[in-house]
Amino acid sequence: MQLTIDLTGRDVLVTGSDTVSRQAVRRYQAAGATIHRLLKPAAVSFDGPLTVRPFLVAVVDDGDTGWLPLLESCREAGVPVAHEPAAGPEGHVTLVGGGPGALDLLTVGAVHALRDADVVFYDRLAPYQELAALTSAELVDVGKQPGHHKVTQRDIEKLMVEAALLGKNVVRLKGGDPYVFGRGGEEVAACVAAGVPARVISGVTSAISVPAAAGIPVTHREVSHMFTVVSGHAPLTEKEHTHLAGLGGTIVVLMGIGTLPQLAAGLRRAGMKLDMPMAVVERAYRPGQRTTIADLGTIETAATGCSNPAVLVIGEVVRVAEANRNHAEASAELSRLAASLLEA
Ligand code: SAH
Repeated sequence: MQLTIDLTGRDVLVTGSDTVSRQAVRRYQAAGATIHRLLKPAAVSFDGPLTVRPFLVAVVDDGDTGWLPLLESCREAGVPVAHEPAAGPEGHVTLVGGGPGALDLLTVGAVHALRDADVVFYDRLAPYQELAALTSAELVDVGKQPGHHKVTQRDIEKLMVEAALLGKNVVRLKGGDPYVFGRGGEEVAACVAAGVPARVISGVTSAISVPAAAGIPVTHREVSHMFTVVSGHAPLTEKEHTHLAGLGGTIVVLMGIGTLPQLAAGLRRAGMKLDMPMAVVERAYRPGQRTTIADLGTIETAATGCSNPAVLVIGEVVRVAEANRNHAEASAELSRLAASLLEA
């Protein structure tokens, strides 16, 4: 029988030691109940002037027959009893940064967390293709395609918390770093609110590693001594365009393909020079990785065929990559020349 009762603000007495009853306590707390605890069997009278008469008594089954008189008092007083299973080992949630998608950019901490997981909730951007080789955990795809959400953020949080309350070791695997445009903060808050222990394993963020995949250093001595990471999810305000253009450092934009025309136009209005180099790096560390280089005056035309996932880099550091590439090509050419001279 499945009964749904609104427990908000109701007094619930949960019996049993902290170890066995912790999951029951969390479940009732999560349901909004006011929790009272009885750690050891004791004679209880619900009709005395000093005791609160609970709405419900949740009896955690710890195998101790000492609780029988309490059950008898409940029956006599007409207080309903819910029988709860004793908690297994404590469940918890680990938010894991999966890096930009390459197996060798997973941290050692991420690999260990995946290995020890009972269930993994993963995203489209996480390195999910290799998951089956990294863990024997149950794998749940909660990935979102831009525009159509497969599982809502609230549902993801609910699934994670529920699994942890069942005693599972839950891993939430996210692309890049969980705290960079990853809603990691919200997921930790949801765990804390439900009394579920949560920890975060930082990951290699695409904000730095995707430009690097194209040979672009986000800072470079005497070229740029700062970089600003911006979400292109929604267009920026005029004030933000002005501030960005005035900073003079490297600008890195995530989720920026959709709003690229607005950003480029905004930066031009804010006075950024038209020959400021720009790069679009698509699908870094994956098949089909591609870099498109243009400048602020030409980027919209140059990037018409570009699609997500992609990172946009705006700044003089883009030229460093080009110079290095030319240098690498020149030295490759030199070695070929030297080899052919040796052969001759
Ligand atoms: N938490 C993530 C970012 C999530 S937002 C992190 O720290 O990396 C998603 C955006 O990240 C994408 O729209 C894209 O801009 C960028 N991104 C992630 N992986 C990428 C990849 N392999 N290649 C290009 N861009 C990537």
